[in-house]
Amino acid sequence: MNHPTFSFEFFPPKTPEGTDKLRNTRKQLAQFKPQFFSVTFGAGGTTQQGTMDTVLEIQCEGFDAAPHLSCIGSTKDNVRALLNAYREHGIKRIVALRGDIPSGMVEFGEFRYANELVEFIRAEHGDWFHIEIAAYPEYHPQARSALDDLANFERKAKAGASSAITQYFFNADAYFAFVDEVRFRGVDIPVVPGIMPINNFSQLARFSDACGAEIPRWLRLKLQSYGDDMASIRALGLDVVTDLCDRLLSGGAPGLHFYTLNAAGAVSTVWQRLGL
Ligand code: FAD
Repeated sequence: MNHPTFSFEFFPPKTPEGTDKLRNTRKQLAQFKPQFFSVTFGAGGTTQQGTMDTVLEIQCEGFDAAPHLSCIGSTKDNVRALLNAYREHGIKRIVALRGDIPSGMVEFGEFRYANELVEFIRAEHGDWFHIEIAAYPEYHPQARSALDDLANFERKAKAGASSAITQYFFNADAYFAFVDEVRFRGVDIPVVPGIMPINNFSQLARFSDACGAEIPRWLRLKLQSYGDDMASIRALGLDVVTDLCDRLLSGGAPGLHFYTLNAAGAVSTVWQRLGL
């Protein structure tokens, strides 16, 4: 097996305090020598400047930075300008997404699905960018069926993706089954599990309801029963997430991508426990 690769995801901070906090987080996580740091992008371009600023700051610090780029509601000219700007700054990796459709959006723009964005990036820039795409081991909440979602993933991967990062999940079997399915369909790009540390139950439940990532019943009930006891929530979360990462890596996952929510604490502890 190749050496596993690790990456950390941030969102663009909105305040000077948030910017300082993220710098500090990055400093702590940089010691783990990640392959790259990625920075999310608000659907409809709401964080476009924040994403660009954060990515350029990371790059200036000497790390590889990957902007997320969501295409829903965008025009080809907009996306073209952004890609050209990233290329001029020497950015070589993009996380290409459709994005979540903001409520009330009526104009979808010139891209309907992420496979069209992947095709567009390849058509405009050849092999310049390493293109990451999103994968859903528990299936995307808007997919008509599991098989439909797999077919859509296959189309998106074959449009020219270099690798995939998954939505978070807590059930390792879902990941392994997904990878088997896509291999059977002739998709051979690395599929890196996305890992969500557990720090706060109500926030996790909200995210999970929105994105279709299942919190297993036993885990949901146990976390819920801790109420405001954050220390117990974190302790259980660390056990569960460390065990998940361990199973994924020993089962052959090519690396891990951590959804840090701009905080280093839980990720660092998981990292140390895994002995990476
Ligand atoms: P797609 O691959 O286009 O899929 C969307 C839905 O459409 C799926 O149900 C799929 O089955 C269906 N579909 C796809 N193609 C077709 C087709 N041709 N015909 C019919 N149906 C089709 N969101 C953000 O806004 N900003 C971010 O920075 C961000 N980062 C993310 C990072 C990762 C690693 C992941 C996993 C998700 C991220 N998201 C982000 C969330 C993502 O944008 C949403 O999940 C979004 O709803 C789907 O994006 P996608 O690129 O997977 O879409």
